[in-house]
Amino acid sequence: NMASVELQNLTFHYPDLRTAALSNLSLSVRGGEFVVLAGPSGSGKSTLLRLLKREVSPGGRLSGSILLDGRPLEAWPAREAASAVGLVMQHPDNQLVVDSVEHELAFGMENFGMERSAMRRRMAEIAGFFGLEPLLSRRTDELSGGQKQTVNLASVLMLQPQLLLLDEPLAQLDPLAARDLLGMIKRLNDEWGITVIMSEHRIDDLLPLADRVVRLERGGLAFDGPPRGFAEEAWRRQEPSWVEALPAVTRWALSQPHSETIRDSGPPPLS
Ligand code: ADP
Repeated sequence: NMASVELQNLTFHYPDLRTAALSNLSLSVRGGEFVVLAGPSGSGKSTLLRLLKREVSPGGRLSGSILLDGRPLEAWPAREAASAVGLVMQHPDNQLVVDSVEHELAFGMENFGMERSAMRRRMAEIAGFFGLEPLLSRRTDELSGGQKQTVNLASVLMLQPQLLLLDEPLAQLDPLAARDLLGMIKRLNDEWGITVIMSEHRIDDLLPLADRVVRLERGGLAFDGPPRGFAEEAWRRQEPSWVEALPAVTRWALSQPHSETIRDSGPPPLS
């Protein structure tokens, strides 16, 4: 139940054919990894996640390849790909489609023609995991942002994905709700072996959980390595394009026992 992802020389232009949103990107993610996708706004994070979900508008120009479990993504039957790859987006409201939590969880499986008893079993398992039992009969428009995002994540999990893509899922949540959701994402990775690729603007809380950080810049790969290496690279560079990462990596790195490079070079130049 572990999906690997391999990108080979991936280049993508939107239909307007201005600069490439992704440019000659090569990357491999092992099954079961937790990858943080970092990079400034406009660097291609959403485009990459949506291409992995086969959700980018037609008319774009794509070259290179995307392999999911060693098989070209376009060779996967649409239905199989739709359940194997789950995507949760930034705005909790954009993904809710029906009136109640229970119907929301059932929606994907009903579309796939899942047998009723199998659906009930799956729903009990998922509602239990996410602590959603008390909310099953509630209307989705009465939920808090954190509850909505939990329902979105749970709905995606109903289809038993092997790869979970998250596009700034915490951005609209208050700190407590964000921490809860992040904890659930980490458990899905640890306990269920689901491969996670997650973008987020504030990466402080993600670095300790991640196996790897991949940073994009102008559609290309600017960094690929472990969180500690990322922290040190951001520290070393101190370039304008890395500035948004610095406070986060500094806080995180100073809490680590072996970050001599950062510890010895004095206080951060930016607050
Ligand atoms: P990020 O998620 O890192 O903010 P995006 O993937 O959204 O970056 O954007 C990458 C580039 O593609 C940017 O230059 C952006 O303007 C462009 N872009 C994104 N979506 C579209 C679209 N629907 N049509 C045309 N250009 C787009």
